[in-house]
Amino acid sequence: MGRIRVLSDNVANKIAAGEVVERPASVVKELLENSLDAGSTNIRVEIENGGRRLIRIADDGCGMLRDDALLAFERHATSKLHDVGDLLTIATLGFRGEALPSIASVCRLLLETRSPDEQTGTRIEIAGGKILSCEEIARGGGTAITVRDLFFNVPARKKFLRSEQTEMAHIASLVTHYSLAHPDKTFELWSGGQNLLQATPVETLRERVFQVFGSQILGDLISLEERAAMMPSPDPEDTPRRFAVRGFVSRPQVQKNNRNSIFVFVNGRLIRDRLMLHALSAAYHNLMPPSCFPFALLFLDCDCEEVDVNVHPSKTEVRFRHQSWVHDFVRDAVRDQLMQSRPAPSFSPNPQPAASLPYSDFSQMMQNDAAAPEFVLHPAVPPPPRFDFGDGSIPLQAAAAASPAPVQTGSLKLRVPDTHGGFPSELANNNVMAGSMIDIGDLRPLGQLHHSFIIAAGRDGLWIIDQHVAHERILFEQVLAQQASGRAEMQQLLMPAILQLTPEQQIEYARIEEQLRASGFDTEPFGNRTIAVKAVPAALGHGDIERVIFEVLEIAEEELRGVSVSDLRRGIAASLACRAAIKINTPLDHKKMEWMLRALAATEYPMACPHGRPVALQYGMREILRAFHRI
Ligand code: ADP
Ligand code: MG
Repeated sequence: MGRIRVLSDNVANKIAAGEVVERPASVVKELLENSLDAGSTNIRVEIENGGRRLIRIADDGCGMLRDDALLAFERHATSKLHDVGDLLTIATLGFRGEALPSIASVCRLLLETRSPDEQTGTRIEIAGGKILSCEEIARGGGTAITVRDLFFNVPARKKFLRSEQTEMAHIASLVTHYSLAHPDKTFELWSGGQNLLQATPVETLRERVFQVFGSQILGDLISLEERAAMMPSPDPEDTPRRFAVRGFVSRPQVQKNNRNSIFVFVNGRLIRDRLMLHALSAAYHNLMPPSCFPFALLFLDCDCEEVDVNVHPSKTEVRFRHQSWVHDFVRDAVRDQLMQSRPAPSFSPNPQPAASLPYSDFSQMMQNDAAAPEFVLHPAVPPPPRFDFGDGSIPLQAAAAASPAPVQTGSLKLRVPDTHGGFPSELANNNVMAGSMIDIGDLRPLGQLHHSFIIAAGRDGLWIIDQHVAHERILFEQVLAQQASGRAEMQQLLMPAILQLTPEQQIEYARIEEQLRASGFDTEPFGNRTIAVKAVPAALGHGDIERVIFEVLEIAEEELRGVSVSDLRRGIAASLACRAAIKINTPLDHKKMEWMLRALAATEYPMACPHGRPVALQYGMREILRAFHRI
């Protein structure tokens, strides 16, 4: 007997579910897309327990006939495709006919639906892929699908689910962004009885952005007015194709640590596409440090035949027929808008044209590194504040930060002690310098260079200390100590600062409120998606409150990738320290410099800032002697 067997539908569905239903948010995505495909104008999403206990999506779309409702749970049953030719012109979000059977195979599902063409509605109950009942019911038009106990029969998958808030944050982000793609429809999102999003129909994308994100974020954004272009077809037989892009992008000074704030829709479909991400980075090239990311909401619309959506089971990737043209079109559209809105970026004295990051770069990179899942690395070290030499030369600090090895600056050879107060390996054998380098307790300040660096004499040579980074290290350790002792120094604000949060940030906030308090922030919910900040850490300037809190919420978001409480605390401390530390280009008198050096010496790790940048450079006695030919 042969050994190959065709799998039963039930097994096949579970396998497909592995690809389509990764987490609660993937269920929400599929059901939401179905509701949109059904022409709904009103979509209500209810979640309990981050989607594990319950996901319910109710719409007012076209509903299903009784027979169709039963058929919908068969594998590859779809009303959206008829033959293979249709695959080339898919205008709906769904087309694979896989979602409902896959979802139904890993939960307890209830479908209630009625098409206007039938007098009665249909109610179907399914558990683990098996139909338990199918009956007639009375109900209005539209469809409601309730998913309970997700993964109850797939314990392995259940184990991979993250915390309730993390799963909820994914869902909130998804619903939020679909609501942005359809400003003319009503979207409601509820979690455990709490209303996270209530977006009523509006005329413009700008109004929807305002509804969803609030005025603060809107103020940071530049509207990308629709720009359309005809792509000349290489084939004279083909008619030229129209492409249009529109949306919102952030001003270059809004810098995110990750790509979580980039949302790209191609023909109304939310996708994660490397080509589009690269085009976006290329647009910000030289306007933003390479390790930072913008906020972006891009809608690209084109002829269905120009984009293949059938390349991934969860339909989150697409392939463009003319990649290079699309890349450059998007890059230039965004770039031009950025240039118009902000003609002279201060941190880019000689901006290279964006064309210096062409599509060929992208394709080359993809070839060299086909297996790499990410093409832009997350920054290990945020960029240091730029030191302005006034002549466009490379910042000394940046040069030093790039490598722990000796840095050659003119004739001066500088050592950067390594980040934990130890020594780079090549210095470890150097007896003259070792032993004294940790000993920064006896440094005498001699003066300040460019109001940015403290020059100090030590037993073993000359030291240059970055005042901002040094202060950052001091404050960082202070905040950590206060967090640990539970006695954070606070200052009450005369007027509470009111911050508007996105639905996602609101979920993050609920999770980190306690850590914020431990770090000196007294905050409380204040109406829907708004918080009141009543007190802040003593060291923090009032102008920085909003920034630090949003930064911290962003760190919390990293929990999606596994940040622990202690990492979160360190993140809050680092953010606070960075904002509160004295800046470069600030004159310091002798007393302040002395205080700074003493306080630095008292820290646990005086040699690196919380982000790992060096605090001090040293010109060793031995090198000074050698330079003067005394040895
Ligand atoms: P696909 O969306 O790829 O067609 P699905 O498994 O997601 O496959 O859905 C199967 C079919 O069920 C759809 O083609 C559609 O006809 C029907 N359907 C699903 N959800 C809805 C809904 N909310 N309203 C009306 N019809 C729906
Ligand atoms: Mg579908």
